[in-house]
Amino acid sequence: MEIMDGKNLSNIIKDDLRKEISMYVQTPILAVITIGDDEASKVYVNNKRKSCEQVGISFMHFDYLSEVKESVVINKIKELNKDVSVNGIIVQLPIPDHFNVEKIINTIDVSKDVDGLTNESKIKRMNNEESLVPCTTKGILELLDYYKINMESKRVVVVGRSELVGTPTYQECLKRNATVTICHSKTIDLGSITKEADILIVATGHKYLIDKNMIKEGCVIIDVGISRDNGKLYGDVNPDVSDKCSYLTPVPGGVGPMTVVMLLKNTFIAYKNQHGVKNV
Ligand code: NDP
Repeated sequence: MEIMDGKNLSNIIKDDLRKEISMYVQTPILAVITIGDDEASKVYVNNKRKSCEQVGISFMHFDYLSEVKESVVINKIKELNKDVSVNGIIVQLPIPDHFNVEKIINTIDVSKDVDGLTNESKIKRMNNEESLVPCTTKGILELLDYYKINMESKRVVVVGRSELVGTPTYQECLKRNATVTICHSKTIDLGSITKEADILIVATGHKYLIDKNMIKEGCVIIDVGISRDNGKLYGDVNPDVSDKCSYLTPVPGGVGPMTVVMLLKNTFIAYKNQHGVKNV
């Protein structure tokens, strides 16, 4: 079994990005909005800030208390949409329940939607128009490419159907001509479906949901899940799969760092698009 080292690949991509960005006079800018006090979000935003600094992307952080009026957040996003020096805007999720998350996300201008979560971005992707692919999905695809794992005509099973991870991953795998099945919490006899997968992508947040009895010999496993137990991080996949699968992403150090670096990549693509530089 080979470990798919997302940390190493993310560092390679960061090096390339840093070199490329240094050739441009104007610095790309990513604006990040946080609302409330989610502890995990603080860690993620801090990672994003550090990674931006490493490649030469400026990081603007607008940190609101959960008591902030929704209109204040919406107006800030509108202001950032108009600001030509800002290239990417994200709202770090989750935000407190009393906010209309759809409304807030959909205020982001599609050209600056570097998380790819607005309805406009989703429609573009469904119509195969050029648009930014959500960072986790894009990170998974880049990992598979790096390890030369081709999904055309393969059986891909995605467990989890969220707008953030499962659904865009399902769609992008379909575009790559895989035969894709998507599973969720109402799926009956999950193991009988995951056992058919040549490539199994799991994004549920349930520690060790998948074990070796639920996989096919030689399959590739992408473990997106992150759950915390007594201060330790766990994936959705039990390590006992390692003597049966051919490739596995570790948690941490697999999809996580790839997600962050894809945010940088999307921000730079948005920057180039906004400056009329053709992306090659
Ligand atoms: P959501 O909670 O939004 O979605 C979870 C999905 O898993 C849902 O579709 C749910 O089904 C499904 N699910 C839950 N329980 C089961 C089960 N027992 N069997 C089958 N399906 C199940 O989470 P996200 O998609 O946002 O994130 C998923 C995980 O990935 C989390 O642990 C999150 O922390 C992690 N994550 C990691 C990232 C990284 O960079 N590594 C980035 C983003 C997320 P239903 O729709 O029926 O409720």
